[in-house]
Amino acid sequence: MREMKQIVKHLVLKAFAFLFRDDGPKVVYYHDVGTSYTDMGTPIELLKAHVACARRMGFSFVSRLEDLNAPKKLLMCFDDGFRGLWDEQDYFFREGISPTVFIAVDLVGQSGYLTWDEIRELQRHGFVFQSHTWSHRPLTDVPDEELPHELAEAREAIGVELGHDPDMLCFPCGMHSQKVVEAAKSAGYRKLFASYPGCVASDELLVPRNLVQNLTAADFAHVIHGALCPLRNRYVRQHVR
Ligand SMILES: [Zn+2]
Repeated sequence: MREMKQIVKHLVLKAFAFLFRDDGPKVVYYHDVGTSYTDMGTPIELLKAHVACARRMGFSFVSRLEDLNAPKKLLMCFDDGFRGLWDEQDYFFREGISPTVFIAVDLVGQSGYLTWDEIRELQRHGFVFQSHTWSHRPLTDVPDEELPHELAEAREAIGVELGHDPDMLCFPCGMHSQKVVEAAKSAGYRKLFASYPGCVASDELLVPRNLVQNLTAADFAHVIHGALCPLRNRYVRQHVR
């Protein structure tokens, strides 16, 4: 059954990449490298295959969202700050890839997650760390009076630890609403990373992202050619209240 699903998924992605090809700039996102700390992790060999495949097709990885401004550019993101990034740091340095990592204040230093010292060390090597709120609760479940803690106070706390103002937010579990967007704006966030797929437009507050952590290299290739873009509304229905 699982194999059948894989085959169908592969065929759909292949067809969509062919029919709706869009090489516009994209964010691709993962949760971790390796599977020691979370079952959402991507084996290092698979990540290497994604990177090799992207480069073979003429795509390049940028380190800053601002540089995601032309076709065939990709920004690599990781959510949650799992420790696999620390274990595999040499791979990223060697490849010259500086991912953007979204961290939640409460999770830093917990078992399986990066510590502040490790985060600062990776930041020194070019990794970019941004906010994934304070507690990682889905923001659509957070009472109004606690939103400032999850948004503004998390931004401030991360800023104090890292010496830069994290003005980009990633919604935990992708969940958001118009109210959450407004609260994030008033908390000073400049860019809001969502969990629905698409290409990045530089003037938009919301940044779509394409989940690729479980994809074979062939399916990853289809996704960077825009195969998930036609499915955007399906993801929006799952994540936007
Ligand atoms: Zn998360």
